[in-house]
Amino acid sequence: MARVALVTGGTRGIGEAISKALKAEGYDVAATYAGNDEKAAAFTDETGIKTYKWNVADYAESKAGLEKVEAEVGPIDVVVANAGITRDAPFHKMSPEQWKEVVDTNLTGVFNTVHPVWPGMRERKFGRVIVISSINGQKGQFGQVNYAATKAGDLGIIKSLAQEGARAGITANAVCPGYIGTEMVRAIPEEVLNSKIIPQIPAGRLGEPEEIARCVTFLASENSGFINGSTISANGAQFFV
Ligand code: NDP
Repeated sequence: MARVALVTGGTRGIGEAISKALKAEGYDVAATYAGNDEKAAAFTDETGIKTYKWNVADYAESKAGLEKVEAEVGPIDVVVANAGITRDAPFHKMSPEQWKEVVDTNLTGVFNTVHPVWPGMRERKFGRVIVISSINGQKGQFGQVNYAATKAGDLGIIKSLAQEGARAGITANAVCPGYIGTEMVRAIPEEVLNSKIIPQIPAGRLGEPEEIARCVTFLASENSGFINGSTISANGAQFFV
């Protein structure tokens, strides 16, 4: 029987590439979205990927959604916590709402996505938890105190889960993308991208969503069981100290 993978924010950007790559590897895939872009969810019509709509920031909604996926698709073996947002502002202008929205989605959203499926993974003695963090969680970023805090927090989550899950056959790892050409990055003015951001990337280009998806399929595989609590940086050699 095919393994079941769940990808939050799996209908566009990096998440869409992850959903399609897992499907191509033979997983039964469920992809979630928030409902900001209903059109994006339609991509699954031709792929056979099932889509579900819920807000990852809400525990009750997430739990009910995950139970529905498990009833309709099967017990979740691979959970990819990918949904994320930015609400950028320099710290002195950042509102408590901007802080809270990002923490609720990017950090609490990971708890809400993994916690309900964790007991089943423990019982079945198999699980793959993969969190999409960010280079900005590793190095910090001007204007992103909220975002960087959540993405650094995501690394704390996987390092702790790795220790708790290791004996139960569960791994927890993170992927830290650099700048990837999705709507999140394309929202940055082109002039800023060309004059400030791309020159910082030794590869001289933005990454492709498929390059992140390949990290996820690698971590998800049966043969990656001894890779636990690790972070894969995929950033075109944009090193940091
Ligand atoms: P996009 O903005 O293209 O897509 C975000 C996805 O997350 C969408 O499917 C969106 O649903 C979903 N989503 C957002 N908020 C919620 C919510 N509250 N509940 C459920 N789903 C939600 O993002 P990217 O593909 O660019 O980013 C994906 C992940 O990768 C994020 O965690 C991001 O922080 C991280 N990342 C991205 C980088 C980049 O350069 N793009 C770099 C480093 C990390 P809907 O379509 O309904 O809005």
